[in-house]
Amino acid sequence: MKKVIIIGGGVIGLTSAYFLRKAGAEVTVIEKEEFGMACSKGNQGWVCPAIHEPVPTPGLVAESLQMLMKKDSPLYIKPSAMPQLSGWLTQFMKYCNETDFKKGEKALLTTSKHTLSLFDDIQKDGVDFELHKKGMLFVFLYEANLKKKLERLESVSQQYGHQKPEYKSKEEVKALEPALSDNVKGGIFLENQYHIRPESFSKGMVEKLKEMGVKLYSNTEVIDIEKQDNHITSIKTKDETFEANAFLLAAGAWSDDLGKKINYKLPLTAGKGYSITITNPKTELDHPLYLGDLKGGVTPFHHAVRIGGTMELSGKNLRLDKKRVQGIRYAVSQYLEEEIQGDNEEEWGGMRPMTPDGMPAIGGIPHLDNMYICTGHAMVGLAMAPVSGKMISEIILSGKTDFDMEAFSPARFEKS
Ligand SMILES: Cc1cc2nc3c(=O)[nH]c(=O)nc-3n(C[C@H](O)[C@H](O)[C@H](O)COP(=O)(O)OP(=O)(O)OC[C@H]3O[C@@H](n4cnc5c(N)ncnc54)[C@H](O)[C@@H]3O)c2cc1C
Repeated sequence: MKKVIIIGGGVIGLTSAYFLRKAGAEVTVIEKEEFGMACSKGNQGWVCPAIHEPVPTPGLVAESLQMLMKKDSPLYIKPSAMPQLSGWLTQFMKYCNETDFKKGEKALLTTSKHTLSLFDDIQKDGVDFELHKKGMLFVFLYEANLKKKLERLESVSQQYGHQKPEYKSKEEVKALEPALSDNVKGGIFLENQYHIRPESFSKGMVEKLKEMGVKLYSNTEVIDIEKQDNHITSIKTKDETFEANAFLLAAGAWSDDLGKKINYKLPLTAGKGYSITITNPKTELDHPLYLGDLKGGVTPFHHAVRIGGTMELSGKNLRLDKKRVQGIRYAVSQYLEEEIQGDNEEEWGGMRPMTPDGMPAIGGIPHLDNMYICTGHAMVGLAMAPVSGKMISEIILSGKTDFDMEAFSPARFEKS
C-alpha cells in the first residue's frame, strides 16, 4: 500500500487526504496549527463553479493602477510591500492578457463542471457539513456592471455548458431578497450553485478522515524536508521524522517557504481577504449575494451571516487592517436597506495562496520523483478542493489522470 504524507491541513490537504484514502493509500496529514483554521476558515463559502476564472484579467493593471494603491479599494497593494512583491507583480502583470486568460479560464471552467457533483458525492458518503443549494444572486448598483457580468456569464454558459444566467429586474431581485436597498438596480440569478459553511466542511472532513483511518497530526509544524538525489526520503517536525513513499505539499500560502527547502521556486504570494461573521443576524437573507460593483459578498448560513471580500497584497502576514474591514462594511451598506446587526461579530483575515497566473499548481514537483504539490487556488480553493483532491490523488497513485493538467502544471513557471 502506498504511504502518503500531506503537509498542510487546510481544505486542500484534507480533501486530498480523503481521495487518497478512498483510493487505498495509507495517509498522514500534518498541520502546524488546527485543521482548517487558516484561509479555509472564514471565507465566503461559495461553491459557484460558473464564476471560476484566473485572477489576472486582460487590462486589469492598466484599468486599476490608481485604484491599487487606495487603501479602501477592493484590490490593494501595500506600497511598503512593493520591494518584496515586485518579482511576483511583474509576472502577474504579464499574465493580464487575453491569451493567458482564455487558456486559464478554459482549464478552470472545464474542471469546475465536476464541482457540484463531487460535493454531493462527498455528502452522500457521510461527510457531515452545512450545504445550501440556493443559487447565487448577483446584485448591482450600476446597470453597466450588470450588463457586463450578464454577457460574461452568458458566454461562460454557451462555451462551457455552465448554467444559463437569468436576468432579474429591480423588482424581481427585491422579491427574492426584500432586505436589498433601493440602490440596487437589478441582478442576475444562477439557480444551481451551492454554498457551504467552510468551518463545517473542514470539521466534517476531519471526522470522516479519522473514521477512515487517516493519521492526523495538528499543532505539528513541518520544519524540514530530506532529499537524496531526486527522491524525498522524509520530512521533519520538531520532535519526529516521518517517512513515506510520496509527499504532498498543500500548505496554502506557506507552500513556497517549504518549496525552497527542496529548491523548488514556486512564485507564490498571499492575497489577503477579510470577513465579518455576524451571529443570529436580525436581517433575513435567503441567498448568497455577489456584490457586483464593489467586489464583495454576503453569505447567509444557519444562524449567521458572513460579509467579506477584498484582495490585499501586503506580503505574508495576518494583520487585520481595520480600514479595509470598514471598507467591507461600507460596500455591503450600499446594497442593503439596513446594516446587518446580530448578537456577535467576528472579524477575520485569511491569506489566499496566489500564483502570478492566478492558477493552482497541481501535480509532481519538477525534478523530484515522489513529491507533489496542490496549492495556489486563490479565490476558489474551497470550491475547487474536491476536484483538486481527486486530480492529485490520481496523479500520486497512478501517475496519470483523465483531467487536462497542462494549465495546472507545477513546472510551468520554470519555463517563464
Ligand atoms: C475573504 C475570503 C473569501 C473567500 N471566499 C471563497 C469562496 O467563497 N469560495 C472559495 O472556493 N474560496 C474562497 N476563498 C479562497 C479559499 O479560502 C482558499 O483558496 C482556500 O482556503 C485555500 O485552502 P488551502 O488548504 O490551500 O490553504 P489553507 O487553508 O491556508 O491551509 C494551508 C494549511 O497549511 C498549514 N501549514 C503551513 N505551513 C505548514 C507547515 N510547515 N507544516 C504543517 N502545516 C503547515 C497551515 O497552517 C494551513 O492550515 C476565500 C478567501 C478569502 C480570504
